[in-house]
Amino acid sequence: MAKTVLITGGSRGIGQACAIAFARQGYQVAINYIHSKEKAEALAQELSAQGHPALAVGADVSRKDQVEAMFQQVEAAFGPVDILVNNAGIAQQKLFTDLTEEDWDRMFQVDVKGMFLCCQRALRTMLHSHSGSIVNLSSIWGISGASCEVHYSAAKAAVIGLTKALAQELGPSHIRVNCVAPGVINTEMNGLLGEETLAALAEETPLGILGEPEDVAKAVLFLAGEEARFITGQVLSPNGGFVI
Ligand code: NAP
Repeated sequence: MAKTVLITGGSRGIGQACAIAFARQGYQVAINYIHSKEKAEALAQELSAQGHPALAVGADVSRKDQVEAMFQQVEAAFGPVDILVNNAGIAQQKLFTDLTEEDWDRMFQVDVKGMFLCCQRALRTMLHSHSGSIVNLSSIWGISGASCEVHYSAAKAAVIGLTKALAQELGPSHIRVNCVAPGVINTEMNGLLGEETLAALAEETPLGILGEPEDVAKAVLFLAGEEARFITGQVLSPNGGFVI
């Protein structure tokens, strides 16, 4: 029977590339969004028309009631979630001294608490079946830190800590937890940086290019599936050599 993957923030960018990659590998794909209802539904329709079962499901991952409703919707359509990709995230560039308490809280609510809530809810069925795989999206900035992105860097470092600790706790239950920490990827998230900054970042990258969402999706797909059956608690960083 086909396995079910839930991809949070699957409406755009890296999450969208993951949805397409998993669908092509025969997974039933649940595509979560918060704002981009039309995009997520169009993607689900397109995949379904190609013979890949797909469902768009709205929820703010930082809200426990909405996470619960999202899982119930996915389970009703496809059965329990076998693979959870915690991809939903926000970013923000600001001087540390300009950060408001609200900026800090929202960053951690979406990028860390959202992951906590989705992992906890997914585990309800994964622990029962003694199987499952979770892939969390961190960032190179969670490894190296980035100027003017202190709250984002701190949140993405927390994702790495969460991944490693949870992998240890869940190993005996045959549930793997891994992390993908991309470098600079060509998505709307980096749209605010401007062409000059993006060109400078590409130049700074040893491979001389920015990554594409599909580069990240391949890493997520690998860690999620059976090819990585002996890999847990690890951080894989598709980053063109930017951070080594
Ligand atoms: P993106 O293009 O900005 O897309 C963000 C996705 O997250 C969208 O699908 C958005 O949904 C969803 N989202 C945001 N807040 C949400 C919430 N509260 N609840 C549910 N969904 C929410 O971002 P991206 O570049 O693809 O990044 C995806 C992940 O990779 C993020 O965790 C990001 O931090 C990480 N990452 C990105 C890069 C990069 O260079 N792009 C590098 C390293 C790590 P809507 O479309 O409905 O708004």
